[in-house]
Amino acid sequence: MNIVHEPARDIPVVDEADVLVIGGGPAGMIAAIAAARNGARTIVVERYGFLGGMAPNGLVGPILAIYHWYGAGRIVGGIPWEMLKRMEALGGAILGKDGPHVSFDPEVLKYVADQMTLEAGAEMRLHSTATAVSCDGDRMNGVILESKSGRQAVVAKVIVDATGDADIAAWGGNAFEKGHPETGAMQPMTLYFRLANVNTELMENPNNPETFYTMVETRELLQKAVDAGELPLFGGPWAPKSSTVRDGEAGVNMVRVWGDATDVLDLTRVEVTARDHVQRFVKFLKAHVPGFKNCYLYDTAPQIGVRETRRICGDYQLTVDDIAQSRQFGDGIALGGHIVDIHSLDGTTEQYGVRVEPYQIPYRSLLPTGMVNAIVTGRPISATHEAHASLRVMGTCMALGEAAGTAAALAARGSGLVRAVETSALVTQLKRQGAIVDTDGIQ
Ligand SMILES: Cc1cc2nc3c(=O)[nH]c(=O)nc-3n(C[C@H](O)[C@H](O)[C@H](O)COP(=O)(O)OP(=O)(O)OC[C@H]3O[C@@H](n4cnc5c(N)ncnc54)[C@H](O)[C@@H]3O)c2cc1C
Repeated sequence: MNIVHEPARDIPVVDEADVLVIGGGPAGMIAAIAAARNGARTIVVERYGFLGGMAPNGLVGPILAIYHWYGAGRIVGGIPWEMLKRMEALGGAILGKDGPHVSFDPEVLKYVADQMTLEAGAEMRLHSTATAVSCDGDRMNGVILESKSGRQAVVAKVIVDATGDADIAAWGGNAFEKGHPETGAMQPMTLYFRLANVNTELMENPNNPETFYTMVETRELLQKAVDAGELPLFGGPWAPKSSTVRDGEAGVNMVRVWGDATDVLDLTRVEVTARDHVQRFVKFLKAHVPGFKNCYLYDTAPQIGVRETRRICGDYQLTVDDIAQSRQFGDGIALGGHIVDIHSLDGTTEQYGVRVEPYQIPYRSLLPTGMVNAIVTGRPISATHEAHASLRVMGTCMALGEAAGTAAALAARGSGLVRAVETSALVTQLKRQGAIVDTDGIQ
């Protein structure tokens, strides 16, 4: 391979924080608010011009695992719940009406995330992409950012990796896994699209619990077209009423494209392929499903939705057995309660025959084995391929964000060592914030 030599250069340190959060998605935005409220000088870095992660940048929804999938109650409280209540007050979230689904408006989410982050006293650096890390052995000193202002460094006592892909931990040399343990296959990516002027009453019976989530009749029609070679593979299709807060609108989850989202050429290929698939699916829906006859495509998400990339090797790897048995941990810091939701290569979903009751996630799963002052939160925490498929949803990632930000602030009060945080103090503080960390707290 040809190489280009980049001369060594000094990077200006433009800011210094107690807690530096990289990535402002469901996990990162909540982590930043939690860290700042706990007295840490906090900076959150995000490559887009807004916070919210996959919710606004992938148009992914509804928010799942705020409530347990099978109706045990509300399993997420604290800062995420406060955020959703504020969104509800602005007409931007529907709580407690659609089973486990929280419908929401991504624009309201972006706005409320800004407000809560600033009110907490955290500083935002938007339009800034983390591109490298500066480490001294197992301690991470800071992160290099690229933006219109050039190449800059921010140093911090504790770094929270909330990139969804564990970019920071991986660049710091921490071990990670990817995909299925035998095949390496990762779950497919999906470009969400939104349709307007939909007759939701004719979409399929949206009030029938059998068809509320997956559009069963439409699925049969689509499958025939796939078998005849007329359409590409699809998933679902899922266009539940709960994917949006507005009548006459549908957020559709049906594109399925495979690749590695940490490989830029793969990512380019899947974006282009997915856009082509969207056009073909919309044409088909308009022609064959009465509710979509007069609809039009008003947007696709700013980027394709990524379900799975890296999962860090952490002090504890959560397994599907832990989930199936609702195992309790002394350092449990959040509850999950979503099905084991693996979208597979043939467009189907697997649930491993596991009926998921609310389960605990231990603090140790957020601690990358090779680092002393970094915490990983959100989708890529230490879990097996199957366990990840349950905890990856936004409600759980928000709860993991609150735990990560709170722990980071506690660590920053000392020398930044994340294993020096007393888990009993962390759990007590999380409960004080209203977080639900064990089954006794379910509401
Ligand atoms: C197609 C699809 C459908 C889904 N459906 C649902 C659903 O119905 N309900 C549900 O609850 N969940 C759903 N999920 C899962 C959920 O959206 C994600 O797993 C969740 O958003 C993960 O949260 P996170 O904060 O870990 O990561 P993300 O949401 O990915 O947020 C990471 C943030 O970090 C930023 N970032 C990344 N790298 C860098 C960098 N180097 N520098 C600076 N910023 C960076 C990103 O821009 C982003 O804002 C779905 C996911 C997909 C892909």
